[in-house]
Amino acid sequence: MRVTNKMNGLQLSETFTNMQNIAYVLHGNCYINMTNRCTLRCAFCPKFNKQWDVKGYLLRLKSEPDTQEILTAVGDPTRYKEIVFCGLGEPTLRLKELLIVATQLKLQGATIRLNTDGLANAVYKKDITPLLKNCVDSISVSLNAHHTKLYEKHCRPLIDNAFYAVQDFIRTAREHIDDITITAIDGLPEVDISACEKIAATLGVKFRSRILDEVG
Ligand code: SF4
Repeated sequence: MRVTNKMNGLQLSETFTNMQNIAYVLHGNCYINMTNRCTLRCAFCPKFNKQWDVKGYLLRLKSEPDTQEILTAVGDPTRYKEIVFCGLGEPTLRLKELLIVATQLKLQGATIRLNTDGLANAVYKKDITPLLKNCVDSISVSLNAHHTKLYEKHCRPLIDNAFYAVQDFIRTAREHIDDITITAIDGLPEVDISACEKIAATLGVKFRSRILDEVG
């Protein structure tokens, strides 16, 4: 069943197969929710507190949508400032589908952002960032800590040396994508936002502090 919703002054075509929010509108952007799987198990993540509601959208997926379902859910991408591959889950865990959808949307005139944990190279054990070059305009990478011990505490990665793997990902990605931003959540215990900002400066990318549970 296909239903057209009106939110925030924008029309969003949502495919309610299994009543899933595959795409949702916030801030004039369209956010794509293509997986609930993650490489991290962040202690602050709402889904680990059984909270799947983000700004009125229930983001728990009964099944992962295929590329056509995602494209149908987005509809005409030119209605939005940006199309953002987001969550609740890590979009690069569905890299093949992400590349297909991003390429299609780009051909239709979309501006594409990837919100990621920055661990794709570690997951796939190779540099995947050249694949993003022609279909992703900007990348937002969650760092969420200024040293490895704190990163392990807040993000609980299943990958060894993940804090450094994220920074390695950024170094490779900046060869292909001009617009990269590191984010950290302001207010997470012990996180020094200015120290996170310095890491971003050292890596030659932008920095933005976020508010917990705010999609951006
Ligand atoms: S990366 Fe995002 S969705 Fe995944 S566990 Fe962390 S906060 Fe939750």
